[in-house]
Amino acid sequence: MSEDTIFGKIARGEIPANIVYEDDLVLAFRDLYPAAPTHILIIPRKPIPRLCDANVEDKELLGHMLLTANQVAEAEGLGDKFRLVINNGADAGQSVFHLHMHVIGGRPLNWPPG
Ligand code: IMP
Repeated sequence: MSEDTIFGKIARGEIPANIVYEDDLVLAFRDLYPAAPTHILIIPRKPIPRLCDANVEDKELLGHMLLTANQVAEAEGLGDKFRLVINNGADAGQSVFHLHMHVIGGRPLNWPPG
């Protein structure tokens, strides 16, 4: 159950996080083990385990996550130099099964990410 993940607990305010933005739909907080000078996670309050579990009803929410990423990147002073990552499924590197988008920046970003 996605509600039982660490991000579900953060969304419900049960455990602390370094929150940089929140509204009715989403929260953005700093990754505990940053992979770059700026590494922020954006999660929906709604407990969707993986991106592939989202459906057409989540269209507005998913768009809001992207626009929140723009807002966070601007607030962090990243300009147009940032990367968004969603790991979908354990084999793709997902370790927390509450949908989250990584906003990464503040250093050169190589491609492919590996
Ligand atoms: P994933 O590998 O795409 O699922 O990303 C999970 C991310 O959550 C990793 O970058 C972790 O460093 C991060 N993380 C795990 N636990 C916490 C926490 O309690 N607070 C903030 N970030 C966390």
